[in-house]
Amino acid sequence: MEIPVRNPRTGQMDHRVAVTDTATLMEIAARLRLAQKGWRALGVEGRVAALRRLADALARHQEDLAGALTMDTGRARIARMEVDGVRGSIAGWCATVPGQLPEAWIQGRSNPAIRHAPHWVPYELVGVISPWNFPLTLSLIDAIPALLAGCAVMIKPSEVTPRFAGPLAAAILEAGLAPVLALVCGDGATGQALVDAVDCVCFTGSVPTGRKVAVRAAQRLIPAFLELGGKDALIILDGANLDDAVTAALRGSVLATGQACQSIERIYVAAPIHDEFVARLVAAASKVRLNFPDIGQGEIGPIIFDRQADILRQQIADARAKGAMVLTGGEVVDHGGLWLPPTIMTGVTHDMAVMREETFGPILPIMPFVTVEQAIALANDSQYGLSAAVFAADLDQAAAVGRLLVAGAVSLNDAALTALFHEAPKQSFRDSGLGPSRMGMEGYTRFFRRQALIAQTGRPAPLSAFAEEAGG
Ligand code: NAD
Repeated sequence: MEIPVRNPRTGQMDHRVAVTDTATLMEIAARLRLAQKGWRALGVEGRVAALRRLADALARHQEDLAGALTMDTGRARIARMEVDGVRGSIAGWCATVPGQLPEAWIQGRSNPAIRHAPHWVPYELVGVISPWNFPLTLSLIDAIPALLAGCAVMIKPSEVTPRFAGPLAAAILEAGLAPVLALVCGDGATGQALVDAVDCVCFTGSVPTGRKVAVRAAQRLIPAFLELGGKDALIILDGANLDDAVTAALRGSVLATGQACQSIERIYVAAPIHDEFVARLVAAASKVRLNFPDIGQGEIGPIIFDRQADILRQQIADARAKGAMVLTGGEVVDHGGLWLPPTIMTGVTHDMAVMREETFGPILPIMPFVTVEQAIALANDSQYGLSAAVFAADLDQAAAVGRLLVAGAVSLNDAALTALFHEAPKQSFRDSGLGPSRMGMEGYTRFFRRQALIAQTGRPAPLSAFAEEAGG
């Protein structure tokens, strides 16, 4: 079976992806499990060397990969940045993980005759299911630390953006990693089959699908690490540097056409600076150019998935119908592919879908607030808790507000920093996800089960030590 694939720049169905059937997927899983034993025995230094070979192979396939990603996403510069970013991520993990897992014996505190030692046992087979917005990055973000941990990995990229899988598979083969790293293709049914085949699943995608994956994983009693959608709020306090706030708000919501989980999707501005902020943001947004017809120019690419364009249209129409004013953009432009210029709105309320539901597009709805408490309450009035941002004149004040936000990562005096800085451990709050941090050392240690070796250095206690005492 094949799935037709749409080109986001032309709207044409100009590609097809062959679906991996369930029987083949199960065979691949069995083969990966077998090879995992040798992969684990290789030790972390051997795996580091293999991952470095993958980074080199990705460099050799840079042009093919970036070309395929450009076709998948309709953007050229970010496509190249994805390849560079993955190579950087491999280098970072390879430099960090060796020597991180202590296995020394520890003397018991409650019983000094008993000692224990930790042993770290990797999951045999980790599954990765990825979305369409950063196809390469989000297919490898969890796969790299899982491989270094000694797991075999099976990746299912999104059926919306599958073209990059060919050049990626070629690089994997060239690096000699094919026995322990496989790509399978298909839609939700293939994703479901993957959950049935693995020992641990890493899912990046929407909340509704994440819920299905979590239920399936729960039935199998395997862990599901979920990185889901968001509705990130930006709070701008009185006294903040307005030019910086405008720069960060625009980049935070428009970069990658807003198709990023950590995009800024709601802006709350202190009432005294609201009008000035809006005026400056409108001026800045009006300079943003579409990357059409020339892909080599402009800041804003097409909407990758046409169904997402329907969601954007619906949110704009709903907001307009309920009294919002659209100051820039507001119409999806149809050049075959679909583009939305930055769409700034005022007069919005939390009764509107644009303030409550994930947008995943370059829409910037702005609301004034009177007190800081009100701003915090508005920002926290959401089912999501992925990330957020606060601007203030004083970093301590920004941090104090940040600590009160129900979100896993809070950027201070910038926005969406989790896209640019990957060292800070963070979890996804509320419906935005489940499981340990994918950043920091936990992003590696979550792929191990902890085994305890508990050693008796004295004599084993006899059963009689536990006999009932007469009259006791
Ligand atoms: P999606 O949930 O529609 O699909 C994600 C993946 O799940 C795809 O590969 C799809 O084929 C697969 N899938 C679909 N049904 C499945 C099932 N029943 N079982 C297993 N797999 C199944 O998401 P999308 O539209 O591709 O991506 C956009 C979403 O991803 C947004 O909500 C965005 O916020 C989120 N996202 C989150 C992060 C993060 O790190 N938190 C990063 C990027 C994107």
